[in-house]
Amino acid sequence: MIGILAIQGDVSEHYEAAKRAAERYGVGEEVKLVRRAGDMNDVTRLIIPGGESTTISRLMVRSGIYDIVVERAKKGELAVMGTCAGSILMAKNVVDDNRVRTLGLMDMDIRRNAFGRQRESFEADVDIEGIGKFHAVFIRAPVIAACHGDCKPMAKLGDGIIMARQGRFLALVFHPELTDDLRIYEFFFKM
Ligand code: GLN
Repeated sequence: MIGILAIQGDVSEHYEAAKRAAERYGVGEEVKLVRRAGDMNDVTRLIIPGGESTTISRLMVRSGIYDIVVERAKKGELAVMGTCAGSILMAKNVVDDNRVRTLGLMDMDIRRNAFGRQRESFEADVDIEGIGKFHAVFIRAPVIAACHGDCKPMAKLGDGIIMARQGRFLALVFHPELTDDLRIYEFFFKM
């Protein structure tokens, strides 16, 4: 069961994209929205959408979803993909911001709103290891400042890391749900 964290942000876009990808590439997975702690029971893959990381983290903690995700992810029962704000939640360390209580699943440092006001939102063709050329949409994107240990970069834009993987966890600072290209979902479903 694929769960889309449905607290705030790009929820419906991810839901639609994940459904299409599951039909095309999945091994019979279904997709559901995760609004409260009980919704996590049968979820084996969780997608955390973009939005506002401070809000998503606060509401995750309040709903009890936070504790369940951390516990099941650390036990190896849950694969997690975080996109944009979701990628911030994946990190152990947020540079220059201590308001976001992250899940801390990936050994990486991340910086919020890293591309500055002039480049609030933009698109770029990037090269992703194991996937290939990808047209990526960035909206007030963070950047992964550093990966440590088992956390490995998968794509860069200039000097900045924009996608990383650590075992069953994936973080990308752009928005795969806003293009028709479903290969990142395929990659996540096969991880
Ligand atoms: N800037 C947002 C944050 O820091 C992320 C933006 C997004 O998810 N599109 O949470």
